[in-house]
Amino acid sequence: MKKILLCKEIDEHETRTALIPDDIKKLVGMGFQIKAVKGTGLKSGFSDEDYKQAGAVLVSSNEEGYKDSEIILRILKPESIKGIEKNALHVSYLDPFNEKKLLDDMAKAGLQAVSLEMIPRTTLAQKMDVQSSQTSLAGYTAVVNAASRLPKILPMMVTPSGTINPARVFVIGVGVAGLQAIATAKRLGARVEAFDTRPTVEEQVKSLGATFVKIDLGEMSQTEQGYAKELTADQVKKQQEAQAKVCERSDIVITTAKVFGRKAPRLINADVLDRMKPGAVVVDMAVSSGGNVEGSKLYEEVVRDNGVIIMSGDMLERQVPYDASKMLSGNFTAFLTHFYNKESKEFEVNLKDEIMQGCLLTKDNSIIHPKFKK
Ligand code: NAD
Repeated sequence: MKKILLCKEIDEHETRTALIPDDIKKLVGMGFQIKAVKGTGLKSGFSDEDYKQAGAVLVSSNEEGYKDSEIILRILKPESIKGIEKNALHVSYLDPFNEKKLLDDMAKAGLQAVSLEMIPRTTLAQKMDVQSSQTSLAGYTAVVNAASRLPKILPMMVTPSGTINPARVFVIGVGVAGLQAIATAKRLGARVEAFDTRPTVEEQVKSLGATFVKIDLGEMSQTEQGYAKELTADQVKKQQEAQAKVCERSDIVITTAKVFGRKAPRLINADVLDRMKPGAVVVDMAVSSGGNVEGSKLYEEVVRDNGVIIMSGDMLERQVPYDASKMLSGNFTAFLTHFYNKESKEFEVNLKDEIMQGCLLTKDNSIIHPKFKK
């Protein structure tokens, strides 16, 4: 397989592209033939001319490009699979736990569907991990967005007119997004505190120069893949109480707490928001998976009666599409390179490879992934 189509994202909110010109050049050099749909990179800062210069052939629409393409690359799940050739490898986010019909349709059409969210989170697959690459940027953006709404600056400033104390930032959940949020807030000069239920995180927080908030919740651990385990109702209550005081003294609170495959835990209730300072900003990065913060709204900013602002923290990577596309493109290119056979100069669907086993959901007119088989 060597004929690739780079689709244009149809969702009007999507600003990123799956491949940037630099990587197209690299892939063309390896022997891939690439078609790119006109306008694919415009929102992220890459012109059609850039794609042409890199060696892509421009086509007018996704549908036009499907003809004869063996590998279809896009970010979001397809709006329609009509016209995609049988046996083509389709690589994108698929939201497979919720998109049963789409999976059935892709299987029926004989497509080989790869789900980006199912790429295993192993050391070997790290360079293909779109979740990590995009979430890091989102963690950065959450702090920048909050800072832009805060009626204060973040660093300490000593001037003849007086001294400004550093703003206080509290990060709840220190995974990929949380670590970037801490690093960004520190760089901007804030005083940063953080908490996570995974005990291994304390050292990472300290190494970034932030303070780890100690909350004794009894036994806490993580899964083999490094994810948090779900807390009991009692533990959640204890956590809410213990962290309330930190929220009250904070100017910015960034919440990123998620539990893989489950609803995000509710960590900040209205009574705590009521006691926070006017103008304080809370960014809920778990807003689309249930929300860590009471009253947070997807893609909306909520200003409470007491002046506390709650910002939606979903898909913040779309606000920095140049870098987000660059990183995504690196992930797609790493995936293509990993399965590239240097002798045949072709991409090969190697079912013995554990990365392919983890993310290939359909093949030979069936759903083959054990998690999604009927
Ligand atoms: P995530 O988005 O699932 O969760 C975000 C954070 O919320 C996690 O740190 C989690 O521990 C925390 N959390 C959950 N419940 C909480 C609660 N009640 N209070 C406070 N915090 C809570 O996680 P993620 O950012 O995708 O990754 C988590 C970890 O997974 C990483 O730190 C890493 O160890 C591992 N990981 C491995 C790879 C890899 O090997 N390729 C890639 C990415 C992540």
